Amino acid sequence: MEKFDGEAGSILVNELNEIIDALRNDINKPPLETVAYEIAMLKNSCKTAIKELKHWMAPEKVKTSLTTFPSSAEIVSEPLGVVLVISAWNYPFLLSLDPVIGAIAAGNAVVLKPSELAPATSSLLAKLLGEYMDNSSIRVVEGAVEETSALLQQKWDKIFYTGNGKVARIVMAAAAKNLTPVVLELGGKSPVIVDSNSNINLQVATRRIIAGKWGCNNGQACISPDYIITTKDYAPKLVDALKTELESFYGKNPLESKDLSRIVNSNHFARLSKLLDDDKVVGKIVYGGEKDESKLRISPTILLDVPRDSLIMSEEIFGPLLPIITVDKLEESFNVINSAPKPLAAYLFTNNKKLKERFVKTVSAGGVVINDTSLHLAVHTLPFGGVGDSGIGAYHGKFSFDAFSHKKAVLYRSFFGDASIRYPPYTKTKMRF
Ligand code: NAD
Repeated sequence: MEKFDGEAGSILVNELNEIIDALRNDINKPPLETVAYEIAMLKNSCKTAIKELKHWMAPEKVKTSLTTFPSSAEIVSEPLGVVLVISAWNYPFLLSLDPVIGAIAAGNAVVLKPSELAPATSSLLAKLLGEYMDNSSIRVVEGAVEETSALLQQKWDKIFYTGNGKVARIVMAAAAKNLTPVVLELGGKSPVIVDSNSNINLQVATRRIIAGKWGCNNGQACISPDYIITTKDYAPKLVDALKTELESFYGKNPLESKDLSRIVNSNHFARLSKLLDDDKVVGKIVYGGEKDESKLRISPTILLDVPRDSLIMSEEIFGPLLPIITVDKLEESFNVINSAPKPLAAYLFTNNKKLKERFVKTVSAGGVVINDTSLHLAVHTLPFGGVGDSGIGAYHGKFSFDAFSHKKAVLYRSFFGDASIRYPPYTKTKMRF
């Protein structure tokens, strides 16, 4: 722990340039995004854990009942043991180390398996954790499906997996063999409702939608806005506002912009191209749509009025394409969202108090944000995790510590007050209690 203090001497400070370079190699991640969303978040997690650990670890006194009188009770957190963290490629530094911070804070030993789809970051993590950390408690195992499958055959005290739902099922099935508990940090189609009736600040709304979509790894982020729902009559105004802001951020030729990540690899490029080639969305592109396969680049792309049975609406997009669904009345948005699997995040832009209340009450998602996108991730007092198809369990701040701890029930009794009612013979008089 001494070396991982988030300040001088730490990996995050000393090795910043190497980290920026690795992420640039893996996905052409703009340095500012690396610093803001990976490094700053990790520093914050370290500082929070170091500052709060004493409180998190402290046994929690709880009330007892008359049945146990006289007694006292507390909940004691204990480490689970040896845990496996399997992480994903899109925020490869953050998603690897953030769970590790929680696991170590809670007193566990950790094996980290970074994603093979971000190979530069994976090997940098192996090198740096080897150099900086106590290798009797943290090890990095690099590799792809074969290595991960071998790791999954071992018995762990917890498996923390970040990635897609298909692999999550493989992880959970392997964990079940040993009754190993899991945290599954998955994704989903995170919707954004834009209210046309409450005089919102459209420029701020569009900038925040863009920041959460293209400003986060060019849409390759688990809580990126996946699609927008707004009313038919308002959609053209919204599209115009998005176009204006996109052009001011990324210029007239966004394929050349240094401020946009590339698509991670040719498989994902082909997957995203297929979504655009679907017959059901022909003629629906109202902005962007440019691609450069040789550089694995796709420009920010907006599609208007896509049918709900199109390919792009049937799976998580995880890329720079943003479809807009239009409805006659905003209330219909709730049906659109609630008829789909529960997403990792849901967003609403409105000034209408009743709509906010209804949204929070009726939309089930890992987390919701009103009048912004993605920023709940940065609030360490909020749990970060999914529900239903978007995941199991949560982490960040104390939730990370709890995710990697067993909450042991402890009851203290004295030899005083030994009620005879518990003991045979079980007479009729005793039955009256
Ligand atoms: P990925 O391809 O990097 O896979 C994730 C991990 O699973 C890797 O370490 C990989 O080696 C391992 N893996 C892949 N196939 C496997 C197999 N057959 N058996 C065992 N292990 C295997 O990442 P991905 O799945 O493409 O990530 C994107 C998905 O992750 C999206 O759905 C996104 O929403 C989700 N995601 C969620 C979060 C979150 O915090 N909730 C964060 C990032 C990404």
